[in-house]
Amino acid sequence: MGATDFGLQIAKQFGHKSINFKPALVPLIFSQTDIEYYFKDLSGLSVDAVVACNNQSFRERILITHRGISGPAILQISSYWQKGDKITINLLPDLDASDWLLAMQNTHLKTLLKTTLSTYFSKRLATRLADTLTDKNLANTSINQIKKTDLSDLGKQLNHWTLAPSGTEGMRTAEVCVGGVDTRELSSKTMESNRQQGLYFIGETVDVTGWLGGYNFQWAWSSGWVAGQYV
Ligand SMILES: Cc1cc2nc3c(=O)[nH]c(=O)nc-3n(C[C@H](O)[C@H](O)[C@H](O)COP(=O)(O)OP(=O)(O)OC[C@H]3O[C@@H](n4cnc5c(N)ncnc54)[C@H](O)[C@@H]3O)c2cc1C
Repeated sequence: MGATDFGLQIAKQFGHKSINFKPALVPLIFSQTDIEYYFKDLSGLSVDAVVACNNQSFRERILITHRGISGPAILQISSYWQKGDKITINLLPDLDASDWLLAMQNTHLKTLLKTTLSTYFSKRLATRLADTLTDKNLANTSINQIKKTDLSDLGKQLNHWTLAPSGTEGMRTAEVCVGGVDTRELSSKTMESNRQQGLYFIGETVDVTGWLGGYNFQWAWSSGWVAGQYV
């Protein structure tokens, strides 16, 4: 909307400590190799999942894009993700996937693995997961011909798929930023700088970041309102 780092430049000018600024609530991107292997031709598909990173997790939908993954669960976790971190995705959060697959092996002998996985995923995603998660191209194999160790391995991957994003889509698509003026240097009553009388910081310029759900608007409006009472 035309926002710039103008507020942070002013903060710096008056000697404020600024917490490093980085895009947040933003889609994650992956290397070309990962995109070709896991996501190619699946863009637009979404699935309910638990995404975790740095002791935080969110259960919402994830959405496959041309450059990686997005969707509410990914946007949320992006605020906690640092360059070099891995994320884990539980694609079947209500199920021990290994137990389920081993049980299916006993009852659905000749069913292809991709058909079994289609119980929970779209056909295209089921095929890709069956082929790539164990690295053994098992999609078109009957479930009774797959080794128990491979099925169990696939189940573990479905519950704990570990991926290494190469970055974020950056400021172009980020909804907010993590970082900004340190809250310890502002009055919590008026938002006035404790380094310079008459200087106030509100909204995105302050090191306050909300989850998805309107908290960032709320913060911008509320901090603006309290500052407005004193200016
Ligand atoms: C695509 C998108 C979707 C979002 N969705 C949500 C949502 O659903 N819920 C939610 O809570 N938050 C959402 N946000 C985040 C929310 O918009 C921001 O947190 C909020 O707008 C921050 O308010 P602000 O007043 O601090 O900054 P801004 O809204 O960025 O306002 C800063 C203003 O300062 C102006 N400006 C910059 N430099 C100068 C200058 N030198 N002189 C004069 N003016 C200047 C800019 O033009 C801009 O109008 C979304 C953000 C984006 C980008």
